[in-house]
Order: sequence, then C-alpha cells, then structure tokens
Amino acid sequence: MNDLLPEDSAAWQYLEATIADVVQRYAYREIRFPVLEQTDLFKRSIGEVTDIVEKEMYTFDDRNDVSLTLRPEGTASCVRACEQHGMLYNQVQRLWYMGPMFRYEKPQKGRLRQFHQVGVETFGMDGPDVDAELLILSARLWEQLGIGNAVTLQLNTLGRSEDRARFKTDLVAYLNERKDQLDEDSQRRLDSNPLRILDSKSASTQALLDGAPTLLDYVDEESLLHFEQLKSILDTAGIKYDINPRLVRGLDYYGKTVFEWVTDRLGAQGTVCAGGRYDGLVEQLGGRPTPAVGFAMGIERLVLLLQELDVIPDSVTQVVDAYFISDGDVTTQALIQAEHIRKHIPWLRLQMHCGGGKFKRQMKKAVDSGATLALVLNEAGAKAGELTLKYLREEKDQQTLPLPAMIDLLQAAISE
Ligand code: ATP
Ligand code: MG
Repeated sequence: MNDLLPEDSAAWQYLEATIADVVQRYAYREIRFPVLEQTDLFKRSIGEVTDIVEKEMYTFDDRNDVSLTLRPEGTASCVRACEQHGMLYNQVQRLWYMGPMFRYEKPQKGRLRQFHQVGVETFGMDGPDVDAELLILSARLWEQLGIGNAVTLQLNTLGRSEDRARFKTDLVAYLNERKDQLDEDSQRRLDSNPLRILDSKSASTQALLDGAPTLLDYVDEESLLHFEQLKSILDTAGIKYDINPRLVRGLDYYGKTVFEWVTDRLGAQGTVCAGGRYDGLVEQLGGRPTPAVGFAMGIERLVLLLQELDVIPDSVTQVVDAYFISDGDVTTQALIQAEHIRKHIPWLRLQMHCGGGKFKRQMKKAVDSGATLALVLNEAGAKAGELTLKYLREEKDQQTLPLPAMIDLLQAAISE
C-alpha cells in the first residue's frame, strides 16, 4: 500500500479533476459508498471461484463476529447501495465513483494492494447505445488527457451464462486432452476457472488455444445482434477497436459486451480501464432484473501512463505563482498585504516566506519554489504602501507600484 507524496499528488489531482469533468459532461452523478461491506456481497457478486474472492480479499470479523471485507472493487457496493436506496426500480441511473480498492496481490509496477479506481456504472438501459456511450466517454477522456494514441480498445461479447457454460464444457474437454502442454497456472485453472486460461500470458498456452473452440461460436443470436449494433455505432463514431475473442474478464457477473483499454507503454500491467455489461447482477443480489453496464479504470496505471508520455501540463506540477519576501522588520504588513492580494486574485498561488532571514537567502528560496514572480516588501515600501515585483524567469525590469496597481499588474501577469 503506497503513500502518495506531494511530488505526485498534483498529477493525481489533475487526473481526478479531468475525469470528474468529463463524466459530468455526460451527466453522470457521483455516488459514494463505504470501503467496507459484508463479505457475502462480494462472494455472491464477483463469484466464489475467482482470483479476487479466492485469494485477494482483505476479510476479517468485526467485534460482533460479522465477516467484513475491504472492497476489492466498486460495482457490487454500487449495486448494493442503489438497491438499498430504491434507485433502480423503473429508473435510469448514470453514476460514477472514485476511491481506494483493496486486493491482496503480489505488489509490482502498476499492481498494488491498495489501489484506486474511478468506476462508472449505468442501470436500466439494455441497448447497445449506452455501451457505446461508455466507450465514447472513455475515448473522450483519453483525448482530453492526451493519451489517445497510446491506448487501444479490445472488445468481445460473452453471450449469456448458459452459452458460456456450454463453451466452458467444450473448452475444458479440449484442454484436458492437452493438459500436459498447459502452463502450471492454466492447469490449476482448468478445474477452478477455465475461462481465465484464455487470457494466460504463456505463449505456449496461447498457441494451444489457437485450435480450441471459440466463444463467439457459442454466443446466442440476441447477444450477437447487440454486439453487431455496438460495433456499428463505434464505426460511425470513429472509435477504433480490436475484437479479442479471448477477452473474458475475471469477474463472474459479466455477460454480453466486455472491453478493455490497453496500452503497451507500461509493461505487463497494460490494462488501464476495463468493464462490460452485467445484466444479471442486480437480480442475483436480490433486486428486480435490471440491465447494467459499466467500467473501472485504474488511477495508478493512468498516472504512470501520463508520466511516461510526459503529457501532464507544466501548470499542474507548478504549485507556486508568486513568492512573497519581506525585507526588514515588516513581516506583519507583508502577511496583511499578501492576504489582500489573495482576496483580489483568487486563482493566484502566493507563497509567503516565513521565518525571516537575509534578503539574498529569501530570493534563493523564491527561485527554488518554482514561482515565476517574487514580491518584495521593504521598510520604505511598507511606509509608502508600495511593493516591488521581480521577474524570476524572464529578463524584465522589476517594478515598484502602489498595492492597487500591483494587483492589476499581477492579475494580467498570472492568468486564471
Ligand atoms: P488485472 O488483470 O490487471 O489484474 P483485473 O481484471 O483484476 O485486472 P478489474 O478488476 O477489472 O481488473 O479492475 C479494473 C482496473 O483496475 C484494471 O484494469 C486496472 O487498471 C486496475 N487494477 C486492478 N487491480 C489493480 C491493482 N492491484 N493495482 C492497481 N490497479 C489495479
Ligand atoms: Mg486482477
């Protein structure tokens, strides 16, 4: 579980603010739910024989011997909350959330035990139009962040659970005959979660799969039609995708559309956003049948990608615009003047030098702060109501002005 240090928090804030801005442009509303739920909720939704439930959950008994789990993902909690507050019956919902998730995994680059997701969920819409909306929304976000060229969309349809069950039987039969050629992980999965073998990272297993039955051949008419319509909207909207018949996702509740946005710029952990349709989940958790589709993106991986591609605007990492220095015994007046300036220019990030010291040393601090401007108040200026502006990154003459004129000058120099 990582600490987020100030040198990275600006990038996080920028990413979070950009996501919040984009989802709100599509009229999605934020929902917040607790980081803890009763363990049963995740077992019933994600599925007993999934990696998450079998070995990744942080589960403990509370003082009343109720089994609780730190949420490993947000969809189950979101459905629980919506159901509990009567938000799903006869209604359409477009929701998003953001926050920490917890999985006991082997930590590595892009894989942590406390990581952060932004999730987007929709309820009450069964057509391919809303599947397309989610993909269009995510493409808009990548474009806004400047990473559109570094991510590609993988798309598949899982059909209905009975189709998957038939496919699973045939796949297991095919692989059982060739069990000795499978990698170790896949041999284990053959009994527990055979569909996960499809996204095995082993090249020999992938080669073996070339001759295996394909899920697409098992998918029912209606799911296929849904898939065709989705593809046709994406084609018209100019969203490129690759069909990946082996994309299955690791959670049991998905059916019909599934997708992942992947990048080849982050090494092994290349999926930055993943999701799909889960029309059966609400009913499975005790509600009325409610179509649903959503996705979650990994904030850590997206921050890594932004850094890797060097697309974080300089203004994001620069935290100080102006640095205020007091030259002589004028500390109190300096604090008062700085406050006056902040009141008039709300977007200005003005850092006060505290703790006194020689003028030269204060100037060095000003330069080191990253500020573009220094404001200097000396004893004469304090008496006359004037202060001096020095340009730290440009060859420009300093200016000494009365406070109101200085405010005008600053306002022009530092735009909102
Ligand atoms: P993976 O195959 O990478 O383990 P997953 O199928 O478990 O992913 P989801 O549960 O669908 O992933 O989560 C959606 C996104 O959340 C992932 O695409 C990834 O960006 C991010 N994510 C998932 N697990 C982690 C983790 N342990 N650390 C950091 N990010 C994660
Ligand atoms: Mg995982």
